[in-house]
Amino acid sequence: MSEVLVLVDHVDGEIKKVTFELLTAARQIGEPSAVVVGSPGTAAKLKESLAAYGAAKVYVAESDDATGYLVTPKVDVLAALVEKTAPAAVLVAATADGKEIAGRLAARTGSGLLVDAIGIEGSAGDVVAVQSIFGGAFVVKSKSNKGTPIVSVRPGGLEAEQAQGAAAEEAVDVPAADAAKSARITGQEPIVGGDRPELTEASVVVSGGRGVGSAEQFEVVEKLADAFGAAVGASRAAVDSGYYPPQFQVGQTGKTVSPQLYVALGISGAIQHRAGMQTSKTIIAVNKDAEAPIFEIADFGVVGDLFAVAPQLTEEVGKR
Ligand code: FAD
Repeated sequence: MSEVLVLVDHVDGEIKKVTFELLTAARQIGEPSAVVVGSPGTAAKLKESLAAYGAAKVYVAESDDATGYLVTPKVDVLAALVEKTAPAAVLVAATADGKEIAGRLAARTGSGLLVDAIGIEGSAGDVVAVQSIFGGAFVVKSKSNKGTPIVSVRPGGLEAEQAQGAAAEEAVDVPAADAAKSARITGQEPIVGGDRPELTEASVVVSGGRGVGSAEQFEVVEKLADAFGAAVGASRAAVDSGYYPPQFQVGQTGKTVSPQLYVALGISGAIQHRAGMQTSKTIIAVNKDAEAPIFEIADFGVVGDLFAVAPQLTEEVGKR
């Protein structure tokens, strides 16, 4: 069976959920080999969970240089592995970093790039990326006709399923080229929502829309989110109105989320918003307009004023 390289997405050895989705996707077309690029000791922390999602092999590229230099060490490691193993495909999370890695890797290896996949089909030599376009209105399938297909996979786009793998370790070098050292990360700080889970990782997301009315009033959304231990999201209208920062936008031009529970407060449910949250397992909508399209996809709906409903919900959740 052909190898499929999966770049492990982690922060300081804490694995991101999207990695399990990538390993699940990889199993559709071959045998997943996880690629861990990080500081020394990272792979040891991740190995067990990578095995639980079917990683047959774990390539370990550990060095003090691996994390300090933006995306280039990851591109270097993946490019070396593409040459060495001739995999069926390389799968990378379609995050801000992942998109840059995928693009650079495709250019470096002279390969075709398939972006923002929500599924993978086919087999080695005939890899097909499934993509959702026009706000989820159409599903298209694409193939690369040059080199090793490099596929960026949308976080939350598919369901992760467990399958035991051997996770056999193999060390690889991290070639820290001088060019890579021209820009160094000196520190990272979250801007807002520091203690909350990341939007695409959270099992509960509470989002606010234009109906929230102002940046100050977004506090009602945050309080409910904190009662649930949830991430906060926002519609584009809320972001464009300056109520909440752009990195929290959910939808076609924002992030895709697929939590166990999605709570939409004052969001009408435009197709572009739905594109980013409609695969959530349970959807609760609070909207004062009974005709709002969000109710078409909501499992539970409350027709009412969010400023009356959300605080009651916050209080109830807080009691449990
Ligand atoms: P509105 O449509 O204005 O809805 C506000 C809702 O709040 C209404 O239904 C109203 O009844 C309700 N409301 C008002 N006050 C209260 C209250 N007190 N209590 C309860 N309910 C109340 N949108 C996204 O969200 N994400 C995207 O990624 C995205 N990408 C886009 C890409 C393109 C190319 C385009 C053209 C559009 C995109 N949009 C996106 C915008 C999208 O079309 C909608 O304009 C947007 O989702 C509307 O946001 P909203 O539901 O918050 O606002």
